[in-house]
Amino acid sequence: MSPIRAEDIHTRDPRPAQRTAGGPDGSDTPEGPDGLRAAAVRDEAGGPGACHGSPDRAIVIGASIAGLLAARVLSERFAEVVLFERDDLPAEAGARKGTPQALHPHGLLARGREVMEQLFPGFTEALLQRGALTGDIGADSCICADRRRLASRPAGIRGVTASRLAIEGELRRRMRQRPGVRFVTGVDVVAPVHDAGRVTGVRTRSLAAAQGSGADAALQVWPAALVVDCSGRGSRLPAWLREWGYDAAPEERVRVDIAYTSAYFERDALERPASAAVIGVATADHPQPSILLAQEPDGEGRARWVAGLGGYGGDHVGASREAMLQRALATGQSEIAALCAGAPMIGEPMRYAFPHSQWRHYERLARFPEGLLALGDSIASFNPVYGQGMSAAAGQALALQQALAGGTAGLARRYFRAAARVVATPWQLAVGGDLAIPQVQGERTRATRFVNGYLKRVRAAAEHDAVVSAAFRRVVHLLSAPPSLFAPGVVWRVLRHRPPRAADERKALVAAQ
Ligand SMILES: Cc1cc2nc3c(=O)[nH]c(=O)nc-3n(C[C@H](O)[C@H](O)[C@H](O)COP(=O)(O)OP(=O)(O)OC[C@H]3O[C@@H](n4cnc5c(N)ncnc54)[C@H](O)[C@@H]3O)c2cc1C
Repeated sequence: MSPIRAEDIHTRDPRPAQRTAGGPDGSDTPEGPDGLRAAAVRDEAGGPGACHGSPDRAIVIGASIAGLLAARVLSERFAEVVLFERDDLPAEAGARKGTPQALHPHGLLARGREVMEQLFPGFTEALLQRGALTGDIGADSCICADRRRLASRPAGIRGVTASRLAIEGELRRRMRQRPGVRFVTGVDVVAPVHDAGRVTGVRTRSLAAAQGSGADAALQVWPAALVVDCSGRGSRLPAWLREWGYDAAPEERVRVDIAYTSAYFERDALERPASAAVIGVATADHPQPSILLAQEPDGEGRARWVAGLGGYGGDHVGASREAMLQRALATGQSEIAALCAGAPMIGEPMRYAFPHSQWRHYERLARFPEGLLALGDSIASFNPVYGQGMSAAAGQALALQQALAGGTAGLARRYFRAAARVVATPWQLAVGGDLAIPQVQGERTRATRFVNGYLKRVRAAAEHDAVVSAAFRRVVHLLSAPPSLFAPGVVWRVLRHRPPRAADERKALVAAQ
C-alpha cells in the first residue's frame, strides 16, 4: 500500500484523551513521522454499511475560504476537525490549482471582514503586518457608477484591502495553530459515506497513491459525526444526493456571461493612495464593471495594485495591457488607465470567465441526510463583480455556529434555513443588479424594474449627498439590508435630488474623460 500524502498535517491538540492516533478510523496503528499512519487504508470495510460516524470528528471537504471558516466553528464543538484538500497547501500565502480565481481581484466587504475578525481576533492586524491597507469604507474607498463618484465621508466602518491569497493564507495559518485541527492534502474526497439516511464519513482517494499503486490502494474511509461540503461551485453534492435517492435541490441560475481581465501593477509603498479601493459599478447605461485594489507586497517585496475590467455577454476585454488601457479610457476608469499607460506591470494580464450565478436551495428539500451540510460556493456562487462570495461564506459560518449551538437534532434543517437567510441578501443584490444590465437574460418583473429604477436614482443622489452615499455603501458591504434604502430619511433625500438627464450624463462622461 502507498503512503497517503499528508505533508500538511497539524494536530496540536494537547488533550491526550481526545487525540486520534492518526489512522482515519481512530485505531491505534502506529503513526508515521508525519502524524498519519504510514500506509493508506483500503476501503476494507466493504462499503458504506460498515462505517459508523466517529462522534468526536467533523470533516470538511475543501480547505479554501469556506472550508477554513467552517472548520473554525466546527472546532468549537468537535475534538477533531479534518480538512481534506486536493491541492498541496502552501506554507504561506500562495497560488494553487484548485482556486484559479484567487489571482483575480478579491474585495473583502466590510461584513466579511467583521465576521473574520470575530472568528479570528487580530485577523485585520495580521493582514496589515503583511502590508495590506486599511481605511474607512466611506472615506478611503471610491465607488463610481454611471461615470459619477459617490460622495465620500467617514462612515466609521473599517475596511481592508489585501489579496485573496493573503486572506486565505492568514485564515489557514490560524487554523493550523488551532488544537484538534488537521489538514490532509493531496486527497480527493470521492464521496461521503451514506447509510440509511445518514452520512457517516467520507471516502477519500490519495492522488499520489492513485497514480502509483492503482486506484484501490489509494482509497480510505474516514468516519465522522458531521461532514461539511465546502468544495466550491463545482461541488458534487447534487450528484451524491441523486445517487442516494434524494430529490434534487431546486437550483436558481442567472446567466451573466461575464469575463474579467486582471493585471498587477507596481505600487509605491511609501505613498498612501487617496483610495485603496476603486470600484466601478456596472449599470444599465454603463455595463462595464471595474475594480482596483491596493495589495500587500508580493514575495519580492513589491507593493501592488490589482486591476480588473469586466464585461457582460461577450463584451470582454482582451488579455493585454493595450486592450486594458483602451477599455479603461473608453469607460472613464482613470486610475486604471493611468496604471495601464505607465506603471510597471507584474506578470501578464489574465482572463477569467464566469458563466452564471447559482444558488442550490437545500433548505427547500423535504428530506436531507443527517450528518451532512454544505457551506460557501457549494450552496451559492455569485457574479464576482459584487465581491460577495467570501463574506457570504463568513455569514454562513456564523449561521453554522448558531445552528450547532442548538445541538445536532434537526441540524441540517435549521442550518440550511439560516444559511439561506444569509445568502438571500447578496443574491438579491447580485441578481437584481444583473437584471438591470441589458445583456443579461432573465425575467424582469415589475418589482425588479421598479427597484432598479429607484437604485439608479439612489446612485445619482449619492454623488452629492453623503447620507445617501453612506446608506448605499452599507448595503453594498452587506452591513444593511437593501430595504434600508427605502427608509423615509433616504427616500426623501433621493427624491428631492433631480433625476439625471441625458445632457447631465453627457457632461459627466466628458468630465470623466
Ligand atoms: C473571478 C472571481 C472573482 C471573485 N472576486 C471575489 C471578491 O472580490 N470578493 C469575494 O468575497 N469573493 C469573490 N469571489 C468568490 C470567492 O472566490 C468565493 O466565494 C470564496 O472563495 C469561497 O469559495 P469556497 O471556499 O466556497 O470555494 P473555493 O474557493 O472554490 O474552494 C473549494 C476548495 O475545495 C477543494 N476541493 C474541491 N473538490 C474537492 C474534493 N472532492 N476533495 C478535496 N478537495 C476538494 C478545491 O481544491 C478548493 O480548494 C470571486 C470569484 C471569482 C470566480
